[in-house]
Amino acid sequence: MSDLSKDMKNIKEFLNKVADAGVLMPDIKVSLELQYPGIGAADTVKLDELVNLGLLRKKVFDRTISCPKCGSVSIFTRYACPSCSSINIEKSRLIQHVDCGYTDSEVKFSKKESSVLVCPKCGKEIDERRLRIYASFFECGVCHSRTSTPSIVHKCHKCDNIFKPDEAVLKPLYSYELTVKGLSIIKRE
Ligand SMILES: [Zn+2]
Ligand SMILES: [Zn+2]
Ligand SMILES: [Zn+2]
Repeated sequence: MSDLSKDMKNIKEFLNKVADAGVLMPDIKVSLELQYPGIGAADTVKLDELVNLGLLRKKVFDRTISCPKCGSVSIFTRYACPSCSSINIEKSRLIQHVDCGYTDSEVKFSKKESSVLVCPKCGKEIDERRLRIYASFFECGVCHSRTSTPSIVHKCHKCDNIFKPDEAVLKPLYSYELTVKGLSIIKRE
């Protein structure tokens, strides 16, 4: 089989997969769960029983965002436009072409193949040294407003609940260690 027909076969197989899906939907697979290396998945009920028996001592070690609806810690964070709540925002920089003084967001400067910026005002290719960079900001793709502080939106991977920081549950993550009493039990054996 020639390389080209082999390529075509691969392309066809791939297109068939897309056809089967109908619309290919993006999904970042993350599955976060609390674990304690050494004992595996966290059995916090059991650990807390041992704390109540005075055999273990627990301390707040960290805090993590968890879903207010289902308690999952598998949370995905997105930035949103503070004006219209759209998540279709793009990070950009305010840049100036020193030669002609034109200042605008980076997205307004078109890019040539070699990622060289082209000034929309004077049409010249811009040498990096002839570029003045001001602040970074986020520009909304829907209402075009600009902000340096986007809204924060969380999404739960387990139940798809979308929530804001003020609705989030900040779950404490505990460290556990043996107490003197716990230690004495081990030594007795
Ligand atoms: Zn959830
Ligand atoms: Zn220019
Ligand atoms: Zn917007």
